Amino acid sequence: MRFKEFNLREAYDPQLAKKQEELVKLGYDLGPYGPKGDGVDGIMGPYTQAAIDAHSKGIKPEDAPKPNPTAVTAFNKAQGINPNSTGIGIKPDSKGIGIKPPASGLPVDGPVSSPFGYRTSVGKGHSHLGTDFAVPVGTKVFAPVDGVVSRAGDKNGAEGVYVVLDGDGVTHKFFHLSKIIADQGTKVKKGDVIALTGNTGYSTGPHLHWETHIAGQAVDPMKNIA
Ligand SMILES: [Zn+2]
Repeated sequence: MRFKEFNLREAYDPQLAKKQEELVKLGYDLGPYGPKGDGVDGIMGPYTQAAIDAHSKGIKPEDAPKPNPTAVTAFNKAQGINPNSTGIGIKPDSKGIGIKPPASGLPVDGPVSSPFGYRTSVGKGHSHLGTDFAVPVGTKVFAPVDGVVSRAGDKNGAEGVYVVLDGDGVTHKFFHLSKIIADQGTKVKKGDVIALTGNTGYSTGPHLHWETHIAGQAVDPMKNIA
């Protein structure tokens, strides 16, 4: 199987992601970017803005004002997601934010919010084993390859509702789902809908976490893999 490589970063600002990591280390509350952070690092939102403001004014983390709830609601609304969500999701076709990956080969059509290898869980000391796409809850997840759903369920843990698809020598894992469409044992064709995205497990905003493993080794899903 082959995935076309494309420019990951339009929305993602590595400088800002670094700054966010620094702020979390200092103890500032970054909401969706916090210790559970599997959200949209490297993107400016109200939480980040509030923390940056407080830090620049020399306000200690414990005294830092919370982000303005109106701003959070407005930000979420502008992205076309639930205005009351504390997480920050981004609509796949929202203008100006994010890249639109080519539909072919990818499980969802939405902006990459955290690339493979990027450390999202500050303080936990592990790498990010997959690629995150910021997409609204209920977005269809398409099988990237022909294969068999080897496992599907709800781990009630980090992964939340998950589907594992084996095909072409690659194991694909999809986490934080809201609904399983293709149950364990289902044979699927590339392009079949296997699940709907969600915000389950250790997730602080609606998104899809997609991992690819070859011989037990996690590899970057967005790289060409043969
Ligand atoms: Zn992830």
